[in-house]
Amino acid sequence: MKKGNLNVIENMHAYVLEHSLRESDVLNRLRLETEKDSSAIMQIPPEQGQFMALLVKLIGAKRTIEIGVYTGYSTLCVSQAMPSNSYTVACDVSEAWTNIAKRYWKEAGVDHKIDLRIAPASETLEALIKDGQSQSYDFVFIDADKDNYDLYYELSLKLLKKGGVIAIDNVLLFGSVIDSNLLGDSLRDKLSENSIQAVRDLNKKIRNDCRVDISMLQIADGITLARKI
Ligand code: CA
Repeated sequence: MKKGNLNVIENMHAYVLEHSLRESDVLNRLRLETEKDSSAIMQIPPEQGQFMALLVKLIGAKRTIEIGVYTGYSTLCVSQAMPSNSYTVACDVSEAWTNIAKRYWKEAGVDHKIDLRIAPASETLEALIKDGQSQSYDFVFIDADKDNYDLYYELSLKLLKKGGVIAIDNVLLFGSVIDSNLLGDSLRDKLSENSIQAVRDLNKKIRNDCRVDISMLQIADGITLARKI
């Protein structure tokens, strides 16, 4: 099992998993299948999925948006945590990865609650706004290309109800928000300086954004929760 990269005390992370992780069989199999691929760094860790599932229950979410689906682990966590009449718009550009997601969503019996849109996420979000769906969503998870994080954040704020929550993933970007040199060689190839700067800029902006209540959590690769005021 991969340890959260920010958990400098390795045993502490193991303790947290041992004393809190409740991963269902279908989630476990999806995660292990995804981990076989070299892109698996894009998959959220299981304790983060469990946290997101709890979060949507806490806020009573019924309508959510996921920006960046990948193989569908977080979508599955969130969908399973919501009632049978819930609705999730799932945005991604990859047929190959989301085909894996669809297989597991179907097996878990949540596929009817998930509206997968294969297109650049900004186009999908703009279409929802044009369709009159502004201020109608309870929760948005942003976990896609970092260059567009600010755009996704702004579009998400439009689509959220008052009191709705955005969770932004990778806000610490493996430490690179502090120093790009903290990235290992394998990650350096995947993350451009522009992407790193985009996350730094958004973090700075959200710190002073009076439209939201915030908390930056130092779990997994860093998650900012922003609640629309
Ligand atoms: Ca991520």
